[in-house]
Parts: sequence; C-alpha cells; structure tokens
Amino acid sequence: MITRRLFATSTPSSETKCLAKVGWPTWTPPEANGSGLNMALEVGAKFKTDLASPAAWCPLSLIKYPNGTEGVFPHIMDRAKPGSIGVLANGKRFVNEANGYYEYVDAMIKATPEGQPVNSWQIADSRFVRKYPLGMAKPLPVPLTPYLLNGYLQKGNTIEELAEKCGIDPPALAKTVKEFNENARRGEDPEFGLGETPFNRYGGDPKNTPNPSLGTLEKGPFYAVKVLPGSFGTFAGIDVDEKSRVRTESGDVIPGLYAAGNDQARVMGGYYPAGGINLGPGLTFGYVAARDIAGVTTYEDDKTEAPV
Ligand SMILES: Cc1cc2nc3c(=O)[nH]c(=O)nc-3n(C[C@H](O)[C@H](O)[C@H](O)COP(=O)(O)OP(=O)(O)OC[C@H]3O[C@@H](n4cnc5c(N)ncnc54)[C@H](O)[C@@H]3O)c2cc1C
Repeated sequence: MITRRLFATSTPSSETKCLAKVGWPTWTPPEANGSGLNMALEVGAKFKTDLASPAAWCPLSLIKYPNGTEGVFPHIMDRAKPGSIGVLANGKRFVNEANGYYEYVDAMIKATPEGQPVNSWQIADSRFVRKYPLGMAKPLPVPLTPYLLNGYLQKGNTIEELAEKCGIDPPALAKTVKEFNENARRGEDPEFGLGETPFNRYGGDPKNTPNPSLGTLEKGPFYAVKVLPGSFGTFAGIDVDEKSRVRTESGDVIPGLYAAGNDQARVMGGYYPAGGINLGPGLTFGYVAARDIAGVTTYEDDKTEAPV
C-alpha cells in the first residue's frame, strides 16, 4: 500500500534562501520553513524555477523594536497616497508608486543596475507624514520621534540633505522632486501615470483633487523610509501535474506524493495577476490532491462523473 502525503508546508525554497542570502526579507512566518519541500526533493521531486519570478513580491521595510527584535512592515496602502514618491539610489523614480505591491518590487529589481543592492526609498514631505502613514510611521497624533530615533525614518531639512542621509544622489533627487512637483500641480504624472487608474485612486485620498494619488513634496522637513524587495510567498516550487501529483525531472509522477500551496510551483507561472493568487491556487490544488488521494471520481453536488 502506498502512503499518500500532501506537502504544503510553505516554501522558503532554495530560491528564497538565495533571497535571504542577499538580505531580502520575507513576510512569511518562521513556521513556514519548507521542510515538506525538502523531503520531496530528497525523494527526487523536480524543483521548478523557470517562472517569471521566484516569489510573490511585496515591498517591505525593516523595523527595530524596543526589545531588540526586528520586524517587517508591508508597504501596501501608503504608496498610493498623494505627496510621496519612490526613488532608487540614483535619485530617479522607477514605477507608478500606486500600482500593486508585486509590480512595485518587480520594477525595483529591474531598474536597479547590475551589482548594486536592490532597495529604494519612499520619500515624503512634512505635510504627508502628519496626514498619512509612511510605512510603519503613523500620522498625527502619533509622534514620529520613535521612528527617527530607531533609524526607521530619515529626516532632512532639504531634499538634498535627506538624500545625503539616505545615500541617494542629491542633485538627481532634487531634480526628480522639482519635475514631479511641477507636473503634480497640474494633476499629471507624464512619466508613470500615477493616479490614472481606478486601482491607483482607490488607494489615494479622495479629498485630494484632481488626482487622489498625486501631490507635491515641497514643505520641509522631508522624510524617507528604506524599502526593500520582500515577499509573502513563493512561486518557484515543486513541479506537479494537474492532480497535484509530484513530478520528477523526467516528468514521471512520484507515487503517493502531492504538493500544494507555496510548496508547489505556482500555476500562474510566477506572475501576479491579482490579489489572492497565493491562497486561491493553494486551496484549489489542495482540494484537487485530496480528491485524488481519496479516489473520488464524481462531483459532490450531482454525483456525475468528473473528467479524469
Ligand atoms: C501577512 C500575509 C498576508 C498575505 N495575504 C495574502 C492575500 O491577501 N492573498 C493571498 O492569496 N495570499 C496572501 N498571503 C500569502 C499566503 O498567505 C500564503 O501564500 C499561503 O498561506 C501559503 O499557504 P501554504 O498552505 O502553502 O503554507 P502555510 O499557510 O504557511 O502553511 C504551512 C503549514 O505547514 C506547517 N508545517 C511546516 N513544516 C511542517 C512539517 N514538517 N510538518 C507538519 N507541518 C508543517 C506550518 O506550521 C504551517 O502551518 C499572505 C501572506 C502573509 C504572510
């Protein structure tokens, strides 16, 4: 008799271990340690890496807690608020900041010159930080002091001073902000179209007109938070067939072995068409695997035969 095992232990796969080596953080809990994936590899499972990206990207900043531990904060909503931009060390923007988190990190990786550390800075002016969150730093009435003291936020009286503190090219950042402001006053972002889509605007501020995601950065002091390429799940993983059965390098099925969730090479091929693309396929292929393990051949509702 074959013992049937479904591995769904969540995958800090060898890909994400590589990411960890280069200092890229993840949002996944420590229990998601990929031990199932490793067991599958030991018995000959194929690890599939030919996907558009190895992980479900999410921009993260690192925060030091008073007890000495370090946490991560996801930049989900703050990027779309008016009066903040994301820049690389060369002082240039690289993406429509209000787009999805996956797209933000994907663009950051692609725009960073070869050999340079992949990171960016989200910068904003004093009006922004008192009205909206900047990463983990909260708006009024929460004081910014703890975030400045622990190094989470950088502060400069001018854009150039802020750039110096962050290691950004000061004249280049000043030029970027000047041009961005000129266009923002007209409610336009010719470079990236910030705020042009309903998706952008839903994350913005509806009271900010004419463009809920577009505002100037002009009133000092100025603030910045370092944003790293993080992830909250993996796309690279174990190769499976349509029944979630684990395959070897030669394409053969390993009898009785199944994979779903982060352990499985993701069905979307490493792309991120929309939110839920981790949980949805995880649930679906777990269900598909369970049906095969149970030998179920009919649909639950009307008991008709399902295609094999
Ligand atoms: C904060 C956050 C927000 C997210 N939001 C979304 C979202 O909105 N939409 C979306 O689609 N995805 C989201 N994701 C991603 C999604 O949650 C994960 O991709 C998904 O939970 C992975 O499911 P999984 O079953 O593969 O692994 P997990 O949910 O990590 O479960 C793995 C389980 O296996 C257990 N385990 C590990 N090793 C062993 C072992 N040797 N033996 C027995 N058990 C073991 C672990 O303890 C854990 O309980 C988010 C992730 C995070 C971290």
